[in-house]
Amino acid sequence: MSMPFSVLAETFEKLERVTARTQMLLYLVELFKKTPPEIIDKVVYFIQGKLWPDWKGLPELGIGEKMLIKAASIALHVSEKQIEQLVKKLGDTGKAIEMIKREKQQKQKAVGLLAFMQKPSGGESTLTVEKVYDTLARIALVQGEGSRDIKLKLLAGLLAEASPREAKYIARFVEGRLRLGVGDATIMEALAVVYGGSAAMRSVVERAYNLRADLGMVAKILATQGIDALKNIKPEVGVPIRPMLAERLNDPVEIIKKLGGRALVEYKYDGERAQIHKKGDKIWIFSRRLENITHMYPDVVEMAKKGIKAEEAIVEGEIVAIDPETGEFRPFQVLMHRRRKKDVHAVLSEIPVAVFLFDTLYVNGEDLTLKPLPARHEVLEKIIEQSDTWRIAEGIVTSDPQELESFFLKAIEDGAEGVMAKAIHDRSIYQAGARGWLWIKYKRDYKSEMSDTVDLVVIGAFYGKGRRGGKFGALLMAAYDPDTDTFKSVCKVGSGFTDEDLERLDDMLKPYISDKKPARVDSQMKPDVWVEPTLVAEIIGAELTLSPIHTCCYGWVKSGAGISIRFPRFIRWRPDKGPEDATTTKELYEMYKRQLRRIKEEEAPTGV
Ligand code: ATP
Repeated sequence: MSMPFSVLAETFEKLERVTARTQMLLYLVELFKKTPPEIIDKVVYFIQGKLWPDWKGLPELGIGEKMLIKAASIALHVSEKQIEQLVKKLGDTGKAIEMIKREKQQKQKAVGLLAFMQKPSGGESTLTVEKVYDTLARIALVQGEGSRDIKLKLLAGLLAEASPREAKYIARFVEGRLRLGVGDATIMEALAVVYGGSAAMRSVVERAYNLRADLGMVAKILATQGIDALKNIKPEVGVPIRPMLAERLNDPVEIIKKLGGRALVEYKYDGERAQIHKKGDKIWIFSRRLENITHMYPDVVEMAKKGIKAEEAIVEGEIVAIDPETGEFRPFQVLMHRRRKKDVHAVLSEIPVAVFLFDTLYVNGEDLTLKPLPARHEVLEKIIEQSDTWRIAEGIVTSDPQELESFFLKAIEDGAEGVMAKAIHDRSIYQAGARGWLWIKYKRDYKSEMSDTVDLVVIGAFYGKGRRGGKFGALLMAAYDPDTDTFKSVCKVGSGFTDEDLERLDDMLKPYISDKKPARVDSQMKPDVWVEPTLVAEIIGAELTLSPIHTCCYGWVKSGAGISIRFPRFIRWRPDKGPEDATTTKELYEMYKRQLRRIKEEEAPTGV
């Protein structure tokens, strides 16, 4: 069974014209109904704008704008210069290719060169989804000598065969600029409607996706084997599980209460989260964003091979940079510095690391994610052979807020960021992919009224003034709202950047600049340029305030106002976070409420 690629291109065009999620959902449902189950994975990957999940670590297409134009010039029989000129005018290679192709087709029709019209559907292409996918996959995978020419030939062939509209989307896909604005949540809902019978089945699809972070694979199991197969899905070694995340609180009494009176309290190490998979001698390491970072940590690979005493296992821990002399923790930035180095082996001894393990999710065929934390911890202790640099996280079990507080202070003294308090009752499962109250982080105060930093997504940028004229000097930042799958503006941040940060800003933003407001962005403030929600930065400010212009939590506290940050300052980039990992609108709302409570307590007259 196959499906014409034109069906997909038509849906893309429709999706591009709308921004309302409900409408996007309808278009996806319509598309999935037409899609043969065997190719649903490919269709899902196309919508996600990728050939396969990033964590697979497979090569990307490796085609830049220049090569795309060259391929188009071969396919369309026009000079590269001509295409380049049109691209300059339109600012969009895909559109330029579409226009040239359409013009040519019309001309041919006009002069009666009807050969192409003998094709079915009067000049439309006969490309199928499989053919386009398989050809693009071949382009990505071909390597070595002569690969450039092969890539070029394959791409030119596709563009020649495509209809004008199809060529536009193939070009955009190749450039990594498909940007349909459809989030995973909407794709999952559409899958649930079509194959699960109702939107209510989205939770089943979501759980499967949380256990196996490959939406194409999940869609295929669902479409070919049905919803029951998805209900029974287990983690698979080598396929990352989406991480469980914590809520935050800064009051030990409240923390203990929230966790049901008793908790496991561990150091919150300030490093990089690592999900480590082992199968025999093979090790995979996945980051918090599920990138395959195995090659960045050859030392951790060795530790895991020796230190996991199970044939098959998935464990989680934090990788921390340590001082080779003293063994003390070093800041997160040091680790990121190591991550940026091309030759990891050269810095292994300069920036050694230690791993602190805190969970195990799967061992020898058994899915542990639905087991309570104490049971998982017991397995962890059994399968981990500890050494100086491969340890189980420091922790205590307590029901006493005071003991929690002193452990917190000890953690800070030892260079940790604070503590993670975790529920240990019967329902303390591993909530893959969710931020919930089973884990609560209690972090060091950053010595400011705003007691914690937030991680916000860049959605726009403003040009600087004076010395910075013509270059970006401030950013429009947004929080993530998972309920509507949108990014809502919180503040404009223009301070806290070092000169070096500012120098890099133009280059960093360039690939994500958009000529219109990106689909999932909700903002009344209009920046000089819009930016596709991609980059995440850590921000602190004097306090949270109400603002009539920002759309975060609009109307939640007071009608006509949203929540914003007063005197926001940039602290650092968070390359380890994706846009959907940013602080959520709900979290900001909770922070605002806590701040209000604090102010009220401080203002309350004493002795009453
Ligand atoms: P933050 O922005 O505070 O670093 P986050 O948003 O990345 O956190 P959270 O769920 O808020 O993620 O906090 C949990 C993070 O803390 C984990 O992703 C992990 O990297 C880190 N961490 C450090 N020590 C532990 C621990 N003992 N248990 C669980 N997570 C830990």
